[in-house]
Amino acid sequence: MRNKKITVIGAARSGIAAARLLRAHAAHVFISDEKPLSAMGNAAALMDEYEIPYEFGKHTGKALECDAIVLSPGVPGNIPIIKLAREKGKKIYSEIEVAYQYCKAPVVAITGSNGKTTTTTLTGEIFKKAGVKTFVAGNIGVPFSDVAELADEKSVVVLEVSSFQLEHIDEFRPKVSVLLNLSPDHLDRYSSYEEYVQAKFRIVENQRGRDVFIYNEDDAAVKDFAGTVTIKTQPFSRLQKLRSGAWVRDGNIAVVSGRKEDVLMPASEVGIPGAHNLSNALASALAAKAMDVDNTHIREALRSFTGVEHRLEFVRELNGVKYFNDSKATNVDAVWYALQSFSEKIVLIAGGKDKGASYAPLRPLVEKNVAEIILIGEAAEKIESELGGSAACVRADTMQHAVEIARAHAAPGSVVLLSPACSSFDMFNNYEHRGRVFKECVKGLQ
Ligand code: ADP
Repeated sequence: MRNKKITVIGAARSGIAAARLLRAHAAHVFISDEKPLSAMGNAAALMDEYEIPYEFGKHTGKALECDAIVLSPGVPGNIPIIKLAREKGKKIYSEIEVAYQYCKAPVVAITGSNGKTTTTTLTGEIFKKAGVKTFVAGNIGVPFSDVAELADEKSVVVLEVSSFQLEHIDEFRPKVSVLLNLSPDHLDRYSSYEEYVQAKFRIVENQRGRDVFIYNEDDAAVKDFAGTVTIKTQPFSRLQKLRSGAWVRDGNIAVVSGRKEDVLMPASEVGIPGAHNLSNALASALAAKAMDVDNTHIREALRSFTGVEHRLEFVRELNGVKYFNDSKATNVDAVWYALQSFSEKIVLIAGGKDKGASYAPLRPLVEKNVAEIILIGEAAEKIESELGGSAACVRADTMQHAVEIARAHAAPGSVVLLSPACSSFDMFNNYEHRGRVFKECVKGLQ
């Protein structure tokens, strides 16, 4: 990209990181964001510091005076300026593509509809236990562009990748790729589920030689796709016996390769709770094995890692009722797994900004495990119309109100679970904010 004119669309963290990296490599960078300067935090100051020209407030024709465009992952690929860029034949790259161009370290890339952050973090923990210089980056908070050049051949980059990032790759080639699962999500940003799924599949697009694709044998769509992949594939399954890959034999995690089977540890010793997290643990173990990490280090990390904030996070127990924060459950499938993770009856707090998927798949589990649903946010009506009758539904205006109702209604021995199935932007800045507010309300209960 040296001496090329590159426009970065979107000046949030990843966009800024890509712009800085490109500028450091002698590209002529321009950055454009439709948000007004007043909403851009310190972006303008940073751009001044890096000597990168910018426009904030709207994308003008100036953004298209370039050789190529880099699209920040938070910006939808169907906005007018990008449509126009396509019409003009401009190449469009994602931020991970840019970072990849400058990264010497092998990349372990993890995608899927749910479990990315958990699996990425856990995989990073395994490499750290093994003494490998590890960079955990991507969707998880630290842009790949910020670490790409810090990582050398001997280190490893464990990268959480979203469908948005994969949509605009060109040469991005992970040494190990992981596809955890597929379920409807982000239908507000894709014109169809198929389009979303196809973006995820691109994770293997440039893999070749001894690269490995690790996939979930228990997910029908993922399994079908794996059948079409030409590089080495390694399945994991918590439900089926496998001839290669990672599975659960008599309650033990076993990794099979050729005639050799390594029993790693009892599945019950995995530190993160729930069936879905066992799948995540199997995926992490395989990813580490693919990079030649010893069993001892894998075992230690699987035991000691207790999860990431806002994912089925235990908050407190009060009057025999346990409170859990699963604010990151921003789609229906994540809630499905959350509802499976408890033997106790659940008072569920759900709702927020609807993302287009149906809530109806939750009906059987709600009927079985949920005592009451407390609905918040814009999606309340839709959820009630799709789940009403499978459990009692009540409405709450605020999180505080929802928590108070939950406290009043939850019987001793039950669980109060915030697992919204929606994004948070109707009431909160983001899911972290929603989770923190929930925890404060819960901690404030007398
Ligand atoms: P992502 O980064 O893909 O959003 P997270 O690890 O942040 O995934 O988890 C998001 C939500 O999905 C949480 O509610 C979590 O409990 C749930 N979850 C985690 N792993 C899985 C999985 N393998 N299948 C389904 N749900 C999962």
